[in-house]
Amino acid sequence: MEKVLNPSALRPKRLFIGMLLLSAIFLTLVFFALWRISYLGLREINEYLPLLLGIALATAVALTFLGLGNLLLAVKGWPYFSAGQKQIYKLINLLFPLSVKIGKLFGHTRRELEGSFITVSNLLFRRRKIRVPAERLLVLTPHCLQLATCPHKITRDPNNCKRCGGCNIGDLVKLSEELGFKFFVATGGTLARQVAREWRPQAVLAIACERDLMSGIQDVYPLPAVGVLNIRPNGPCFNTKVDMAEVRATVESVIIPKEQDNG
Ligand code: SF4
Repeated sequence: MEKVLNPSALRPKRLFIGMLLLSAIFLTLVFFALWRISYLGLREINEYLPLLLGIALATAVALTFLGLGNLLLAVKGWPYFSAGQKQIYKLINLLFPLSVKIGKLFGHTRRELEGSFITVSNLLFRRRKIRVPAERLLVLTPHCLQLATCPHKITRDPNNCKRCGGCNIGDLVKLSEELGFKFFVATGGTLARQVAREWRPQAVLAIACERDLMSGIQDVYPLPAVGVLNIRPNGPCFNTKVDMAEVRATVESVIIPKEQDNG
């Protein structure tokens, strides 16, 4: 049985950022070694080739550290270049596989790193102080949140849920009626992306495991997305749960209160 995780106890952001930095330093050393090894051979072909390769590698290294520096500024709460968020995600995708390998050397699992990414990503989301009308917030959950023995088909239409209290789907349907946000249960990432395209929300709150949140948050970009980790007392992808207090608090922090929304 998988350990029950308290979703609020997200992994520290420094883990993810630290591993990204170590990966960037490692890559820099590899680039330098490559340049050094190829130096004489390249010079024999053309005397300018070592210089050109050096400039290309140095530019790649400089851009990497600029991106990471921008991420650090954002995480620290200092002024940062917000238009560079897409580039930050690209950089993360590029460095993440190496970060996982380096993390393993220090005894950290892939899941811990993904969890730490969610912490960083949520922090960036909150820094943007995003507020949207309730009906423009889309809450997405995976199918595994539904009780496995429930006979009701709630994908496509969560209103088919009878609110029997057997799982958190009923709680989410009730909360969506109370607060007015859109709620959808997706059977996979493709459907989730399709719904996000069709419904044109202004923000997304995704409930999922670390892996799906990490890919999902990046997939829906430039839509701002905040993640809430699911709880897995029965192992992954089976009768999962979510902390409803955390969901409510997150929704309330994103939607414009009704009285303000009415003008
Ligand atoms: S709350 Fe809804 S989805 Fe969950 S078991 Fe009951 S009827 Fe099924």
